[in-house]
Amino acid sequence: MSNIRFEAIKQCAREQSTAYEVKGQVKDYFACDVFTRERMKEYIAEEVLQQLFDDVDNGRTIHREIAGSVAIGMRKWATDHGATHFTHWFQPLTGGTAEKHDAFFTLKDGMLIEEFSGDALYQQEPDASSFPSGGIRNTFEARGYSAWDPSSPVFLIGDTLCIPTVFVAYTGEALDYKTPLIRSTAALCHAAREVCQYFDKTVKHVHTNLGWEQEYFLVDEALFNARPDLVMTGRTLMGHASAKNQQLEDHYFGAIPARVLAFMRELEYEALRAGIPVRTRHNEVAPNQFEMAPVYEDVNLSNDHNLLVMSIMERVAERHHFRVLLHEKPYAGVNGSGKHCNWSLQTNTGTNLLSPGKNPYQNLQFVTFLVNVLMAVYKYNGLLKASIASATNEHRLGANEAPPAIISVFLGKQISEVLDKLENATAEEGIIINAKKEMKLGIANIPEILLDNTDRNRTSPFAFTGNRFEFRAVGSSANCGAAMLALNSAVAEQLMQFKSEVDRRVEAGEAKERVLFDVIKRYIVECKAIRFDGNGYSDEWKEEAARRGLDCETSAPLMIDNYLSPEVVKMFATTGVLNEAELHSRCEVKWETYCKKVQIESRVMGDLVINHVLPAAKRYQTMLLQNVLAVKQVFSEEEVRSLNEQDYSIIRQIENHAAAIIAGVEKMTEARHKANRQPDERSKAIAYHDTVLPLMADIRSHADELEMIVDDEMWTLVKYREMLTVH
Ligand code: ADP
Ligand code: MG
Repeated sequence: MSNIRFEAIKQCAREQSTAYEVKGQVKDYFACDVFTRERMKEYIAEEVLQQLFDDVDNGRTIHREIAGSVAIGMRKWATDHGATHFTHWFQPLTGGTAEKHDAFFTLKDGMLIEEFSGDALYQQEPDASSFPSGGIRNTFEARGYSAWDPSSPVFLIGDTLCIPTVFVAYTGEALDYKTPLIRSTAALCHAAREVCQYFDKTVKHVHTNLGWEQEYFLVDEALFNARPDLVMTGRTLMGHASAKNQQLEDHYFGAIPARVLAFMRELEYEALRAGIPVRTRHNEVAPNQFEMAPVYEDVNLSNDHNLLVMSIMERVAERHHFRVLLHEKPYAGVNGSGKHCNWSLQTNTGTNLLSPGKNPYQNLQFVTFLVNVLMAVYKYNGLLKASIASATNEHRLGANEAPPAIISVFLGKQISEVLDKLENATAEEGIIINAKKEMKLGIANIPEILLDNTDRNRTSPFAFTGNRFEFRAVGSSANCGAAMLALNSAVAEQLMQFKSEVDRRVEAGEAKERVLFDVIKRYIVECKAIRFDGNGYSDEWKEEAARRGLDCETSAPLMIDNYLSPEVVKMFATTGVLNEAELHSRCEVKWETYCKKVQIESRVMGDLVINHVLPAAKRYQTMLLQNVLAVKQVFSEEEVRSLNEQDYSIIRQIENHAAAIIAGVEKMTEARHKANRQPDERSKAIAYHDTVLPLMADIRSHADELEMIVDDEMWTLVKYREMLTVH
């Protein structure tokens, strides 16, 4: 009888490519698959483009007539480069991206003509009845529209022209991540620009930047295919820890294995062609874990690029006989994967609003934005956690090595000192205005460059890193949009409140600098609870955070409730990002997805223990029993007793674990049925979390014990030590 595990391991020894030749230099192929503004000039009339760019840059809706002329140029460029199809490329709430390809031709009077109209570019109505809408759209009224997002350029993937689009219901509600992300950047741009006017009247625009760091695991495809749990759920549902995993810390930043490097080179090549400015690659902490990061871009574009790169990764990995694991926690006991979202605000004049400046005004501006972000994170820490909550990220958060399930902000020593000084300064000390009306900040000088690498805190879910904030709790498989739109909206609302308070007092006759100083000082005191520079993994912090009134919920289904708190509903309404119906629908989808994921995992687990673990254990047990009988025939009764002692012990252990597993699976199935009978998605998700997950953990512990007992040659599931090595 063949053992699928050994077959898989043998497969890994196949001839592997360890070389990948990139042709040419980056500058020769960067963005060659993108219809960039430069390229548009070759294909589209100047006046049309002027109007288009003007509308895009000012956030105005594009006229349908313009779409017609743009579409002609777009098709010409695409077909010149071998495209035969186009697709609206959108981001449904399932996560990932969706596309439906149509050819560039149509029939007219029985004749085939090449066509791609403005309407086809502008808007499509995919049969979207099976995308989740959380009740916004009944399936019999399955009208969802995808509409062109001209702020993100179209690009080619193989023979298909991909058009980034938003996805909305017939009634206008957002059914995706892109729509509210765009709304949130508009709200933030507006609010931040208004506040900038206190410091610099020339600021016309404020952009939100995102630079993501994508972590992932690689596993050989043969090993992957021999683990039904990886294939079906993206994570291992069982597996005993390997004797050696990450304790020696020898993988982090280590030399990248040749086979992996070949994969990375091809991945980077494809990503760069698609205009994704990937720049950084390295080994991560866990064995077989890696990271890639691009240069930051506008948040909407950067998020499109992240989604695109995730699909490119999967495609390229297959060519190298790898599978990419984007799951947040593919293996218990070693680090999980996140997607740190580096976020900053930048004016059209080139100033990074989260970077200390060269003069007192710039520094007051920096402190203003910094403190307003702190306030927003403080007020909406529960929402920010909800924005990253999922069935998959839940395994990573709060675990030993990942950001804790409590949102706090790490500022580092220098900035903490600046805020402490400001807090304790009198108005006279804080803001000094001399006879020439020059302003001086009374606080200690803020060094222009704060990037102090020794002052890093890896345990913080939200860290200030010198000129940006790094939201680290985002999951590796997530659409960053969910987290970014929550952050953008929260900061936008906060800045609006700040401005209205400052304006009110200035209008009443107080000096602007004084008022700014005064309000900032009050904020520093008010949001102190969110600042934490200590060890986020410690138990003391959990107690301390609860005392401070921060959201300490650890159950994902309950974290999601934060979307519907009265303050959050009001905040999203004020900023115009999501209305109440949209929020409800998002929560429904989140709960539903949660249930489905745990349900699938639980079923797969039942299947694995019954069809893999128990048969192997029983086979081994039978062997031991046969041995006991055989010994009896040869040795005396006395000798038999001592000889069989160990066998008996193992036979009994197997029996106990097997019995526990069988009982556990029965209970788990019952718990699932009970959960499914709950009246709504929220209660269902809570039931899955509270009853099904603990039973799964229990079953796993018995299966993992059996793995340690059973003869290695009989074990059929690929082991951790085999998956966590590059073959
Ligand atoms: P580390 O792992 O040390 O945090 P990386 O080099 O892996 O750093 O990733 C840093 C990320 O932060 C990159 O995506 C980079 O583009 C991004 N980034 C750098 N500066 C900014 C900024 N001002 N705003 C937003 N993102 C930034
Ligand atoms: Mg990094």
